[in-house]
Amino acid sequence: MLRTLTKRFLSVNYLNKKGPREAPGAATAGLFANWCVAAVYKLNHRTEQDRLSYKITNVCSGVKRHFARSGAATSLSEMNKLNRYFYLLLITATMASLWSCSASNQVLRKPVPDKLVVLTFDDASASHASYVAPLLKKHGFGGTFFVCEFPPDFEDKTKYMSWEQIQQLHQMGFEIANHTRSHTHVTKMNKERQAEELQYIEAKCAELGIPKPATFAYPGYSTHPSALETLQERGYLFARAGGSRPYNPETDHPYLIPSYSTTGSTPTDRQRVLSALQEAKGGKVVVLTIHGVPDVAHDWVTTPPELFEEYLQYLKDNNYKVVALRDLKRYINVEPARGQVVPDYKHLKNTP
Ligand SMILES: [Zn+2]
Repeated sequence: MLRTLTKRFLSVNYLNKKGPREAPGAATAGLFANWCVAAVYKLNHRTEQDRLSYKITNVCSGVKRHFARSGAATSLSEMNKLNRYFYLLLITATMASLWSCSASNQVLRKPVPDKLVVLTFDDASASHASYVAPLLKKHGFGGTFFVCEFPPDFEDKTKYMSWEQIQQLHQMGFEIANHTRSHTHVTKMNKERQAEELQYIEAKCAELGIPKPATFAYPGYSTHPSALETLQERGYLFARAGGSRPYNPETDHPYLIPSYSTTGSTPTDRQRVLSALQEAKGGKVVVLTIHGVPDVAHDWVTTPPELFEEYLQYLKDNNYKVVALRDLKRYINVEPARGQVVPDYKHLKNTP
């Protein structure tokens, strides 16, 4: 809308209709309108600074050339006056655009504090209800449970939570989020099938009075551009992958949030997790991917309870803020982030 209006301001027809006498006013309005366009353009394309500068300079020059050609400036003094207008407006536009670059980092609602950690739990492991959730509650920590009906033995409740237990997690204040119905990698599904898989979990949640999931985790850390479209169409805020690195909201797309895995029981695994927590600084968030504690269904992704308790104690003792993935919306404007951050599908698998 604004863009259309300002284009009209700038159009040759408009300037011609106003006639030579009113041309300086029209040119001023045109330049101001151009600045508006440029500022809006800038906000939408934060990373394309070169194109913005080019646009400002080019359009300002264009208006000036047109104005000169229209015959409004008939003497040298008028031409000098016109030049003064031009340079003044060009400087204003440039300064305004620099201001919009630095002050208005629109991806962020407010600065991300140091020591911000997101805990996420995958696959609806039975231990999430019996052990993890009460422990989180004891520490006053938030967390996200990415649930699915893991085939072939989701009905085996020694391995997986029941939907009633998932409902209880929601009632305890935790986030229930989507991990597809059947834990199928998004790369193995077309968009229609992806939507069906998401919709199944959404419907189960609706049945049980759980809010519609707002976040997603990729089964097997497997990502694909088609899944980003599906997630956007279904109104998701964030999606978590792997990558073993911290999440930088200014450079990581909100549908490709990297995480660290807590899998493993060796001293090296322990050190890997504790080192990862040191990365929660400088505007970056550390997101942890945790499977069962322990994981009876998939022992290769287990986190030993004693290590898990040590990690939680470390977070507590060092005054970390521990939240669910959906809580990041307090800091991040999801829509500008989706528009401005270029999706990068590399380095999104976790080690080990
Ligand atoms: Zn999974």
